[in-house]
Amino acid sequence: MEYEYYHQQFLIEKPCLATQIPPEIFISICKDLPPTDLLSLARVCKKFYGYLCSTNSLTTQEIWRNSRMTFLPFVQLPPPEGMTELQYVKLVSERGCQFCGKSRIRKIYWPFLVRSCKKCLEERTIR
Ligand SMILES: [Zn+2]
Repeated sequence: MEYEYYHQQFLIEKPCLATQIPPEIFISICKDLPPTDLLSLARVCKKFYGYLCSTNSLTTQEIWRNSRMTFLPFVQLPPPEGMTELQYVKLVSERGCQFCGKSRIRKIYWPFLVRSCKKCLEERTIR
């Protein structure tokens, strides 16, 4: 019996208060955050991920666009055709090869819209 009680205590999941924030408050908070903080916030829980990674929400696109325009002064052009604001921000602000995961890679090959190390690029392209 004690065992069951012990188990019960640890199996009960209380909802996190942060996830109960109304969407309009969440959006208001996001307005002033740099892309790196938005990316961290998207990893907190499914709800935040849903708010920040929705591909068809104009509000989501606006949050990322505002953050990019405010905090990434070297990235003022709109995203390339077919790329969402989130994909664009991740491409320019994250580090590492998108294929092998080699860290510290910053080189973006704009014709292919990828961040890649030289080795991976050569393996995937024909001269
Ligand atoms: Zn690579």
